[in-house]
Amino acid sequence: FLFKFLVIGNAGTGKSCLLHQFIEKKFKDDSNHTIGVEFGSKIINVGGKYVKLQIWDTAGQERFSRETYNALTNWLTDARMLASQDIVIILCGNKKDLDTDREVTFLEASRFAQENELMFLETSALTGENVEEAFVQCARKILNKIESGELDPERMGSGIQYGDAALRQLRPPRRAQTPSAQECGC
Ligand code: GDP
Ligand code: MG
Repeated sequence: FLFKFLVIGNAGTGKSCLLHQFIEKKFKDDSNHTIGVEFGSKIINVGGKYVKLQIWDTAGQERFSRETYNALTNWLTDARMLASQDIVIILCGNKKDLDTDREVTFLEASRFAQENELMFLETSALTGENVEEAFVQCARKILNKIESGELDPERMGSGIQYGDAALRQLRPPRRAQTPSAQECGC
């Protein structure tokens, strides 16, 4: 599979650093602000299946403060409206290493995540803590939803592609209430 990921959030929250940490396994602070959109990709193994994540890094202009948390509702509305209703979202509370400057408690963000049906992890692009986990957990959830039939990769704008056309045949039919002529044996 190929899953399309978007990293969104206010400027200065560490989106580009998270992407570098995930892909290159190192903290890269080149203070080059993202202009427009950049992207990177990485193949991961999720429960024995290879999934390519195509990750789009976006740019914004807002400043860093508790405002970045307050802005979440707007980011969520945009994501759900412009991407797809059943998009899988993980909320990353980044810069976990700067615990003394914390402006949002773990509990407050966890509650927000629960109310808005998001997965949630506190990450640090600096130390690498939970960075791989964030991407992998998100990919695992997408894969589970595909396998349970909740997500249809063939739907326009699903953000999912089959890496190998042969996989399509391996997938059980979505609405298989009645056996097909071949399966029926009559
Ligand atoms: P973006 O605008 O969301 O892409 O943010 P950047 O990735 O450019 O990061 C903005 C600033 O935050 C840079 O100065 C980074 O060095 C810093 N930064 C990013 N992630 C972390 C982190 O996890 N911990 C700390 N301490 N600083 C970080
Ligand atoms: Mg950036």
